[in-house]
Amino acid sequence: MPDIKRPSFFLLSFEELQAELLKCGFEKYRARQIFDCVYRMKIFDPQGMATIPKKLRDFLSGAFLFSETETLGRNIDGDMTGKFLHRLHDGNLVECVLLEAPAEGGEIRKTLCVSTQVGCACGCRFCASTMRGFVRNLSAGEIISQALPFAEKGGKFAFENIVVMGMGEPLMNMDNLLRALSVFNDSDKFGFGARRITVSTCGIADRLLELAKSKFPYRLAISLHGATDEIRSKIMPINGKYPLSVLLPAADAFAKSNGRMITLEYIMIDGVNDSRSQAGELAKIAKSLHAHVNLIPYNKVEGLEWRRPTAARRAAFAEILEKSKVSYTMRREKGSDINAACGQLALKTSDNIQKNP
Ligand code: SF4
Repeated sequence: MPDIKRPSFFLLSFEELQAELLKCGFEKYRARQIFDCVYRMKIFDPQGMATIPKKLRDFLSGAFLFSETETLGRNIDGDMTGKFLHRLHDGNLVECVLLEAPAEGGEIRKTLCVSTQVGCACGCRFCASTMRGFVRNLSAGEIISQALPFAEKGGKFAFENIVVMGMGEPLMNMDNLLRALSVFNDSDKFGFGARRITVSTCGIADRLLELAKSKFPYRLAISLHGATDEIRSKIMPINGKYPLSVLLPAADAFAKSNGRMITLEYIMIDGVNDSRSQAGELAKIAKSLHAHVNLIPYNKVEGLEWRRPTAARRAAFAEILEKSKVSYTMRREKGSDINAACGQLALKTSDNIQKNP
């Protein structure tokens, strides 16, 4: 596994790389060749960079970290979504998910979902990622490294969009999150447009206010999952700290500063948050924020009692949004149910590793 004392290559700006090369006795123009290899051709092992001399390849290998994760395995569902398990330098495991979902016009849109923490402190009752609590934040390099195995021959990634919705609460690891996103977004680096990047939060209102001030350019999704404090507190302990009376004004301030439509994620759990009155309250919230609602029928998590509502109950809920003229989608793809299902593969695998080391 990599020596974590070396800095991540990806966090170097072009000018910083030029300065580093000059300092170590290499020509400045090599920086452009190296950036081309990494960001255009997606060559993440310096030894594979045929356009630069061996001495420089050895220097890069010794001076910087490129990939900081080791891919252990993947689970592919019937609908071609895939869950990937990455091992970090200290043996901890995180998941990322590649979703392939039909988009408008019938094209298949691929999205990579990345993790930002090992475990999570937020304690959402339906979520596998939080079952063993919080372990640690991922570094920016570890967040970026989850995407590297998806580089294809010809220098493209196998996905067009990135969502930060895997293990962990991204806004509780803000500095590393922002550094990693700027590498994905930077037109001199991976160049994903800001509208192709979505960060999902369980509703850390203070951080939303900070982001509103800092002109955060990316899309935001809020895991709402309950449209009144009573219901939301039952399944999301974070609602005790940031009740709707605090969260919704912060979301509104964020939306006004950011200028993009917020998405409200709503996992539908049978008999918990799928009543008609919750649908009515959800419609009011969505309209006040001009937000899109993403309904996600609950996906079974081993060891938890929750169930997904019947098709009739789901349809009745959606009809209320429809009548209220709220923009919404109902997810159907198995692999899209990552909000609840994320963390399960990591939990199972770490159990197996402990039993069969
Ligand atoms: S849903 Fe997200 S915020 Fe909630 S416990 Fe799981 S990982 Fe943490």
